[in-house]
Amino acid sequence: MKTIAFIGLGHMGLPMARNLLKAGFKLKVFDLVQAAIDELAQEGAQAASSASDAVQGADVVISMLPASRHVEGLYLGDDGLLKALKPGTLVLECSTIAPESARKVHKAATERGLEMLDAPVSGGTAGAAAGTLTFMIGGQASTLEKARPVFAAMGSHIFHAGPEGAGQVAKVCNNQVLAVQMIATAEAMALGVANGLEPAVLAEIMRQSSGGNWTLEKYNPWPGVMENAPASKGYSGGFMAELMAKDLGLAQEAAQHSGSSTPMGALALQLYRLLLKQGKGQQDFSVVQQLFVE
Ligand code: NAD
Repeated sequence: MKTIAFIGLGHMGLPMARNLLKAGFKLKVFDLVQAAIDELAQEGAQAASSASDAVQGADVVISMLPASRHVEGLYLGDDGLLKALKPGTLVLECSTIAPESARKVHKAATERGLEMLDAPVSGGTAGAAAGTLTFMIGGQASTLEKARPVFAAMGSHIFHAGPEGAGQVAKVCNNQVLAVQMIATAEAMALGVANGLEPAVLAEIMRQSSGGNWTLEKYNPWPGVMENAPASKGYSGGFMAELMAKDLGLAQEAAQHSGSSTPMGALALQLYRLLLKQGKGQQDFSVVQQLFVE
């Protein structure tokens, strides 16, 4: 069985790593937060003392970090991890980062005889826990075939989006849609409740009608409508508003690059920036609901 080094055990990385353990992979894990390493070590993973310790003897490296700067910091430069990997190692970079940044790491990895895929995910923390994530993959199709059993242990949809960086392009398009849907749902929930509707009744009517969307199915932003949604847990857990703001910024960069017109994405970014200014960046992105209530 392959040995996998897993770096970045946050909201997403920890449950993803847990599913690899359940599937029988040998795992070496590292995060800057010791408690996350300890939690997985109790479940059978080998604790590493650093990222370079984690990759010793690894056949596959998976990273799940916040943003481009963390990923470039991990892999590139004189102390970068790419220099510590044996040729033939598979690098599966699952964070959501700028397509340009992913291409930079791809190029450096290829120069060192390593195979890399950018493989951002969709499905949230619930999908990570259930092993039902969607992977959007950029890189060589032949590399994807080698990595498929690893992805299959963490997800149920595996898409080859295209060459290097294409996974990241697909991901920012998807998250722009998600943010716009979340804002539209929050706005409508507040409108209906302000006009006398019960939140759960309104949510169910819209879910079953033409306004139905993923946020109404799985992630209602109104507290108490869905027991397990972050909104019902004080907007804790889930996907942080600051990460959504980051993704919307990446979408705007991509739009700038291609000259695309993305007014909804631009507005969504402005609304998320407002939330960050209110000190809500560390809360789940459905906290956008609070922009529309007293
Ligand atoms: P998170 O902040 O909860 O986790 C990131 C982890 O990386 C943290 O535990 C942090 O300590 C660790 N880390 C940072 N730098 C490190 C380093 N140099 N070495 C080792 N560990 C390091 O974030 P998350 O919610 O798990 O998201 C991770 C990525 O997945 C982001 O790019 C995010 O945009 C994307 N994503 C998140 C969700 C979601 O619902 N949370 C869904 C899809 C995609």
